[in-house]
Amino acid sequence: MAGLAAAKALSSFFDAVTVLERDVLPSAPVARSGTPQARQVHVLLRGGLDALSELLPNFETELERAGAVRVRIGSQFRLELPGFDPFPRRDLGFDCLSMTRPLLEFVARRSVLRENNIALNPNCRVTRFLEVPGRDAVAGVCYEREDGQRYELAADLVVDASSRGALTLDFLNRNGSPPPEETEIGIDLRYATAMFEIPSLARPDWHAVLHRPASESGRGGLLIPIENNCWQVHVNYIHGAAVPENIGDFIASAKTLRTQTIHAAIKDAVPVGPIRRFVFPCSIRRRFEVLERFPDRLLPLGDAICRFNPASGQGMSVAAQEAVALKRLIEARALDAQPLKGFARSFFAAIQGLLAAPWATAESDFIYEKTRGQRPHDLSERMSFTAALQRLASEDAAVHRIMSEVIHLVKPSSALRDPEIVKRVSALMAASI
Ligand SMILES: Cc1cc2nc3c(=O)[nH]c(=O)nc-3n(C[C@H](O)[C@H](O)[C@H](O)COP(=O)(O)OP(=O)(O)OC[C@H]3O[C@@H](n4cnc5c(N)ncnc54)[C@H](O)[C@@H]3O)c2cc1C
Repeated sequence: MAGLAAAKALSSFFDAVTVLERDVLPSAPVARSGTPQARQVHVLLRGGLDALSELLPNFETELERAGAVRVRIGSQFRLELPGFDPFPRRDLGFDCLSMTRPLLEFVARRSVLRENNIALNPNCRVTRFLEVPGRDAVAGVCYEREDGQRYELAADLVVDASSRGALTLDFLNRNGSPPPEETEIGIDLRYATAMFEIPSLARPDWHAVLHRPASESGRGGLLIPIENNCWQVHVNYIHGAAVPENIGDFIASAKTLRTQTIHAAIKDAVPVGPIRRFVFPCSIRRRFEVLERFPDRLLPLGDAICRFNPASGQGMSVAAQEAVALKRLIEARALDAQPLKGFARSFFAAIQGLLAAPWATAESDFIYEKTRGQRPHDLSERMSFTAALQRLASEDAAVHRIMSEVIHLVKPSSALRDPEIVKRVSALMAASI
């Protein structure tokens, strides 16, 4: 997703953009081995949809035509939070689109490939970045095709959207540049996803359900409508042991959630396909922004910079927002004598605001005792603030809307630091001491 979004973002400023993808790309919306996580539920937040729509014309319409389901946030998306089962339902003024990750990727890929100067070359595994002799800069990439043949491709700018970021780290290492510091939040999140036909007699008063875990259990769940009249459902356990391996166990595990909403919906529904499982060890943030040196003509993007607890559904949206930031930055420098000089450092600075809210959400996993990593010194204050904010939002529609816009990455987290909101939240915090 980061690679596709970046290709489109760059296409107006370069003669040609080439995307090298190690997988053979399917001609239909189905999962593939290079993105194993794509078999799990993937939520596209409103902020991510807005960013992709800014890059890809008519993207929302195209997604809906392909089968994505429109869900109104607040009124049709049932939110279950500890202490609020459910959170008050209200129309918050915006929708999201719900679909499988393969469908989203398929529609995005089709849209990107309409651009005449973008080529997508499947079956090409990048093995390393090439350097400009005697300069701290990347000159292109070396890649391998399935038959083992090696090729080189020269480039003015190389974007590393390979998710792991290993190619960037390897280049820094070979080049004698220090690697970025990595901050990890170890959560050992275990995931299982299943699909069900939506029963013809099902008439729930919601279209989707998000069940956030309580700190005692760490068990969460999510049910979303997807294309072809199905529900995609996941259960996840932070620091959990095994996740269900078959449908019977999956349905039984939904029964162990705090509420019975998801269990009641799926217990008699017809399953579609097998259970898919995944283990996510830790959220990781690479601090490229504090490096004193970074090679020219190289730019990591998306998960290569930061990966978040997937249960918060932020990774694709942040990647899309980073691509929009990339487009704006390159636009602003287009007339400079050397537009790519020091480009990555400006980019890293520009995206810190985008990473702040999702990373703060990832840090909230420190409420679990077993979470590994450096606990923020103000964690308990943050948790009290969030608890009081949720109480205020449950009573006040305007605050509920702002809180949801921040969660959906439509507004920055600073929107919640509005003095009036802070005053009211502080009063609730003081009253609960
Ligand atoms: C279990 C799970 C659930 C998730 N749920 C959500 C969710 O609900 N919402 C959300 O927004 N995000 C979610 N995410 C995160 C999301 O999947 C990523 O953040 C998102 O895909 C952006 O990642 P990316 O584009 O950087 O990498 P990816 O999407 O992983 O893409 C990397 C691409 O690079 C290719 N590649 C890798 N190495 C090479 C190479 N050497 N040469 C050529 N090609 C290469 C791969 O084949 C792949 O196509 C979830 C993640 C997990 C693990």
